[in-house]
Amino acid sequence: MSEVLKVRNVETMYGRVMAIRGVSLSVREGTVVTVMGSNGAGKTTILKTISGALDPFKGEITFKGKSITGLDPDVIARTGVAHSPEGREVFALLSVKDNLMMGAYCRKDRDEVARDFEKVLGWFPVLREFLDKQAIYLSGGQQQMVALGRAFMARPSLMLLDEPSLGLSPRLISEIFAIIKRINVEEGMTMLLVEQNASVALPAADFGYVLETGRIVMEGERDMLMNSADIREFYLGIK
Ligand code: ATP
Repeated sequence: MSEVLKVRNVETMYGRVMAIRGVSLSVREGTVVTVMGSNGAGKTTILKTISGALDPFKGEITFKGKSITGLDPDVIARTGVAHSPEGREVFALLSVKDNLMMGAYCRKDRDEVARDFEKVLGWFPVLREFLDKQAIYLSGGQQQMVALGRAFMARPSLMLLDEPSLGLSPRLISEIFAIIKRINVEEGMTMLLVEQNASVALPAADFGYVLETGRIVMEGERDMLMNSADIREFYLGIK
């Protein structure tokens, strides 16, 4: 399996504050990789640096073997990276249908787009009832579904998912994570998922990194991390 994404020694600053401090990670094709860390650890900053919303101060990011370091977000999106941002950020005044179709704005394969649209509605059947409603009227969970669906509609080579569990009930979290896993398995979709909620993110992942104050402090295959005493105590809340 080849590495789709490689992040090497990346540092990103907000003014004079260094939010991530020499982060290196990689994502192999077809896998789900999670970056776990508490509030403020730098998870969102990593994803924004990969998708081009922030420019790294140092380091290199390669995607499918080519450097994308510092490129504009729309250029990075066109190379096949779709970012589902924290807090969803759906287009509040657009209909659910238009939100989903926005994800496919670069695509020319109309028949495939139509098939993918049906696929998204198959995963999230509740959205079908709201297709013509403005996204602002949806619940947090439904907006999360729209954000995930919109990212998938780009048919990217890599989906970046920022805290899909944020603000959702435990039942909805398991529903959303079951779909995330299905998109990975059924569509072979490669994903980089950042989460504070390690107990849902780690079981869904193949490989994980632990981020603390901007640095990776631990990494490993899912099962290794799930069995680590530190991870169990500090991140999974099991002794
Ligand atoms: P959360 O789960 O709260 O989103 P996170 O792990 O995603 O946390 P980041 O949002 O990446 O963390 O923030 C990393 C660090 O950078 C934090 O210390 C935060 O206060 C700081 N930071 C984030 N955004 C800005 C900003 N726009 N200006 C200045 N500092 C920022």
